[in-house]
Amino acid sequence: MPFAYDDQNIFAKILRGEIPNDTVLETEYTLAFNDIEPQAPVHVLVIPKGPYVSHDHFASEASEAELVDFMRATAAVCRETGVTLEEGEGFRTISNAGAHGVQEVPHFHLHILGGRSMGRMLS
Ligand code: 5GP
Repeated sequence: MPFAYDDQNIFAKILRGEIPNDTVLETEYTLAFNDIEPQAPVHVLVIPKGPYVSHDHFASEASEAELVDFMRATAAVCRETGVTLEEGEGFRTISNAGAHGVQEVPHFHLHILGGRSMGRMLS
C-alpha cells in the first residue's frame, strides 16, 4: 500500500501558516517548533516541509538534500536548546508511526526531549 499523506493534518496547516507555531529553527527543508504540550523542559518537534507521513516514508522517499538538512537541523536544535553532550546532559529523540507507534499527527516528526532525565525507557 503506498504512503497516503493527509494534507489537512495539523502540521501541514502549520507549514502553510494557517496555524501559529513557536518556531525554534527553520531551514530550506525543515521546521522545528516547541510542542504545544511539552513533556519535558525541552520538547521540540522537528518536521520536514515535504509531505511525509512517517520516518520510514521520509527515509525512503526524501531527497538527499532533505535528509541531510533534516539531520543537521536536529543537531542545530540540540545546540540551541543546550542539550548536546558537548554543552548539556543529553536528550532523547522519538518518532511515533501509525497505530502501533500511537502517532497522533500523521506528518513525520521527531520529538527532541531533554532538560531532565527521561527515565530508562518508554512504555
Ligand atoms: P505524536 O503522538 O504524533 O508523536 O505527537 C504529536 C505531538 O504534536 C504531541 O506531542 C502534541 O502535543 C503535539 N501537537 C499537537 N498539536 C499541536 C499543535 O497545534 N502545535 C504544536 N506545537 N504541537 C502540537
